[in-house]
Amino acid sequence: MSDKKRVLSCIQPTGNLHLGNYFGAVKNWVDLQEQYECFYGIVDYHAMTMPYNTKKLRTQTWDLIVDLVSTGLKPENIFIQSLVPEHAELGWIFNCFAAVGRVSNMTQYKDKSQQNKKDGFISVGLFDYPVLQAADILIYKADFVPVGDDQDQHLELTREIADRFNHSVGKEYFILPQTLHTKTPRIKSPADPTRKMSKSAGEKHVIGVFEEEARIRKQIKSAVTDTGDTPEGEMSAGVGNLFELLKAANANDYEQLMSSYHAGDLKYSELKESTAEALVSLTSTFIENKKNILDNKKELKYQIKQSSAEIRKVAQQTLSEVKELVGLMNVKF
Ligand code: ADP
Repeated sequence: MSDKKRVLSCIQPTGNLHLGNYFGAVKNWVDLQEQYECFYGIVDYHAMTMPYNTKKLRTQTWDLIVDLVSTGLKPENIFIQSLVPEHAELGWIFNCFAAVGRVSNMTQYKDKSQQNKKDGFISVGLFDYPVLQAADILIYKADFVPVGDDQDQHLELTREIADRFNHSVGKEYFILPQTLHTKTPRIKSPADPTRKMSKSAGEKHVIGVFEEEARIRKQIKSAVTDTGDTPEGEMSAGVGNLFELLKAANANDYEQLMSSYHAGDLKYSELKESTAEALVSLTSTFIENKKNILDNKKELKYQIKQSSAEIRKVAQQTLSEVKELVGLMNVKF
């Protein structure tokens, strides 16, 4: 194993990647691969916690892997959670070290159960989600977990579970993982820059990572710039979002356009033209990569099964040690 510090991050296979996911998370994961030993999980057990289509989940899992590899994740760093069932077993053990009161307080559970209320069904899985997440992280003894602020609460719970576990077994067995806060941009919807770009917001609010050129140009051209309610002297949310996209895509005319903005002579049409150009240039590379990967999809599937098996060895080792520590049977048949 490598002597680099270990990073763990997970993503649910719930739909195609959009530019918000890419600039806000995936791009950072790609960069972290240089410096750290990275394990990236496609967490299909987690995808079952909200109402979902049983016929589609497996396809969505493979589709997301194709998307991630096309945008720069290395296949050897990717694993599929259900190919490492030790996550679920450690999750059960952690259920017995997690306090109901604390888990009930998780904001994400409150938000998502509210969304499900209209269907009259909220699963125990949704409630238990952060405990499984603690297992995802601790099973690899990850040093760092790159997450957005919205996940800070879950990370705190992970540390509490690790702490209670250590205390109960009388040994500092789990190291307490730290969050790796990297400043990543928050991308807004071009159609409504007051809300974030999100799958759940609907199609017009999302630009896909493999979006065809004409649609990108159209979406940026019609992007909202001024809503008329921006306080004097402040940049409007729409213009801010275009600059955010421009910067995130490493466009070399970012500075020049920003100077024009400050000088008061920026033409929005120019800003839009440059933003569209930068995005098209980025996505065309991704589209090309995806084509090549799809031509060799069998090879990719083989690689991911191999990498999952390799990563599973780490999980098996931890689980075996944990079973020993908590007094469960630990026998290899
Ligand atoms: P969605 O909101 O489209 O369902 P997810 O919740 O599946 O996206 O998010 C997957 C990852 O992408 C998370 O790490 C999340 O923080 C990041 N992300 C999602 N939307 C955005 C956005 N608009 N800007 C920046 N990051 C985002």
